[in-house]
Amino acid sequence: MFPLGHVGIALGVGFLIMRYLKSSWDPKLFIVILGVASLTPDLIDKPMGPLFGLPFGGRLFAHTLVFAFIVMAVCLVLWLRWSKKGTAVSIWPLLFSLGVWVHLLLDLSLEGNAVLLWPAYGVAFPSGEFSWGHLTASPVAIAGEVVGAIILVYLLVLLLLGRFALAEREDRPENG
Ligand SMILES: [Zn+2]
Repeated sequence: MFPLGHVGIALGVGFLIMRYLKSSWDPKLFIVILGVASLTPDLIDKPMGPLFGLPFGGRLFAHTLVFAFIVMAVCLVLWLRWSKKGTAVSIWPLLFSLGVWVHLLLDLSLEGNAVLLWPAYGVAFPSGEFSWGHLTASPVAIAGEVVGAIILVYLLVLLLLGRFALAEREDRPENG
């Protein structure tokens, strides 16, 4: 999956969860944290290839389940610590972990997921390569970018209309 798909779909999933929980989170922080998290595996791995003698753009440690579980563990600890203090920021680590998981999910490939299951198939990473050409060659990748772009435009419109986050939560007493 490519950047628009990653960011757009992660923000869309986070937005649905926010609506489902009837919660309201700071839109700017929400977008920045989930947006960065949704690209974190690529931001770490893409430039790392050359350091290991691999081409730029492969999938390495940050595209493994091990990495996602470590991030999740750290995020859960932060969430536990911050929720005890009763701070509104306790949701942010959970959203960050969500963004990383959505990234790995969108990177699943029918051709095999040896990197994801690392080190099950050996400690060395296969030498993947990034190319924008993969985008035009793959209908799934094109669909991902289109869906991501549509979600981003939709959320941007909500943001501009001031309807991204819910208004004051209405804690109306139940009737009767
Ligand atoms: Zn990736």
